[in-house]
Amino acid sequence: MPTESQSPHLPFGDNTHAEWYGKDILSVKQFSRADLEYIFGVAHEMRGMVERVGTFDLLKGKILANLFYEPSTRTASSFMAAMQRLGGSVVAINEVKYSSVSKGESLPDTIRTLECYTDVIVLRHPEVGSAAIAAEAAEKPVLNAGDGVGEHPTQALLDLFTIFEELGAGKVDGLTITMLGDLKYGRTVHSLARLLTLFDVKLNYVSPEILRMPKDVMDEVSAKNIPQTEYTTLEEVLPETDVLYVTRVQKERFENPADYEKVAGSFVVNPEIMKAAKQEMIVMHPLPRVGEISPDFDTDPRAAYFLQMEYGLYVRMALLAMVLGKA
Ligand code: ASP
Repeated sequence: MPTESQSPHLPFGDNTHAEWYGKDILSVKQFSRADLEYIFGVAHEMRGMVERVGTFDLLKGKILANLFYEPSTRTASSFMAAMQRLGGSVVAINEVKYSSVSKGESLPDTIRTLECYTDVIVLRHPEVGSAAIAAEAAEKPVLNAGDGVGEHPTQALLDLFTIFEELGAGKVDGLTITMLGDLKYGRTVHSLARLLTLFDVKLNYVSPEILRMPKDVMDEVSAKNIPQTEYTTLEEVLPETDVLYVTRVQKERFENPADYEKVAGSFVVNPEIMKAAKQEMIVMHPLPRVGEISPDFDTDPRAAYFLQMEYGLYVRMALLAMVLGKA
């Protein structure tokens, strides 16, 4: 582990007794507004460091296990890049079929194995609650990188960081946020809707009838007195929207492929439709997109989805540094 004198340029100290040291990140429900300010402050510092020096030695000597039981491009690669930019290294298992999982090994046993070799575990798994099971089995911190249709807390953090950076940190209160697409199976919107209840926002949900926001998420939102309304067309809410959060229809979660065919392509955001939206607003998407946002909208200044993935790097750097006691 580097000492401060070996790393004189780092704006971070050794905080191994700090609040986040050794913590799991399983659900957005664990965060307060003060936590968000802290995380985004660190993420902001990380951005500055990446821009100035690229890679630095904050987590030198530390190893991340990146364990992915479901496909991923951005989450897996941004966690790997985050660890490497902090001077640490990565054991990546993203083809579990080549690991002992294919021999029938249980999740707790796989987790116990990986924590013998590494300092922090990032897990994506198809079952709701899997990250909590992993955290129960592990002494080391576990970060939930998506548990089935449950939650995707690090995505919600980077989504909110994007809103802070693009629309102004002080401006989240008062925003109208419209979530569009597959609200039933989309874990990113489940986490983001819950996280936004820390602010004084208005939520609109636009989806086909069979892909409505789940009742448990809506109940949690209304328990926090956040206004939320469901719609089946975008046109009626687009003009008042400050953040349009578009999602993909999650084909892999459908039991009946015929149901997918009925709703695939229900909504397409394109320059023509966006004429009805404000000039000062942003369009977000966790990606991958499969036709919900037409590529000819990408050059519009309101398109924030590529920035969003960049901000994910800084947020994940912040989280790794925090749970490893270095921020
Ligand atoms: N990449 C996001 C997720 O893992 C969104 C998606 O797959 O549609 O949930």
